[in-house]
Amino acid sequence: MASEPSRATPVLGVGRGVLLQAFNAMLQPERFKDYGPNGLQVEGRPQICKIVSGVTASRALIEAAIDVQADAVFVHHGLFWRGQDGCVTGWMKQRLALLLAHDVNLFAYHLPLDAHPQWGNNAQLGRLLGLQAAGRFGEQDLGFVGGWADGIEPLTQPALARHLENRLGRPLVSVGQVHGVIRRIAWCSGGAQGYFEAAIAAGAQAFITGEISEPQAHLARECGVSFFACGHHATERFGAPAVASQVAGELGLVHEFIDISNPA
Ligand SMILES: [Zn+2]
Repeated sequence: MASEPSRATPVLGVGRGVLLQAFNAMLQPERFKDYGPNGLQVEGRPQICKIVSGVTASRALIEAAIDVQADAVFVHHGLFWRGQDGCVTGWMKQRLALLLAHDVNLFAYHLPLDAHPQWGNNAQLGRLLGLQAAGRFGEQDLGFVGGWADGIEPLTQPALARHLENRLGRPLVSVGQVHGVIRRIAWCSGGAQGYFEAAIAAGAQAFITGEISEPQAHLARECGVSFFACGHHATERFGAPAVASQVAGELGLVHEFIDISNPA
């Protein structure tokens, strides 16, 4: 998903602060209570022409961004999280050293990127799957609940499992039988297994997320609601490139999405 201005248009670039303001204006991080800082996590060069987006600020993504001469990296999973020991050693030293040595900016947005009603992970996942949100549920209203988009025939549980595997390109784990077609569906990308009870309370017949933990298998069987664990990475690949491409387009910057595959 690259949005490149035509060859005739020189990319002038924008200041780091202008780019930060554009991301903040779209994603409104001040509205969220998050597990890490949203916004500019690592300061690099002051002028930005090219953004690389990706899911996680892993060493592989940072190296790939340096290879394509990105001035900024934009991710869903940044480097800093509540509960870390705060030491710059080992893998953290290696990632930071690469960013700092190459003067590359790192922008990270976690929950604001899940939640954005049009460009966020959940909105983009729903679009990919043919789902239409009718409302929100769960903590901080991060979960989406609704049904099939106009013109899409509702699926039964086994057909929905095949549809998810086809669209996301990987096998999934599904627990809990629902008889007949599924019409009310809740979804929340990534590690949102803790939202399952809220999804059930919101009347969902099926819940789609990235990961499953032990308790949800029992809840799915006992409540007669299907749980689909489709992969944390696989369900969170869509928000970062959608937001970065949109903002790059507005500011006349070059954008490239780099997917570092992850089986989890
Ligand atoms: Zn995540």
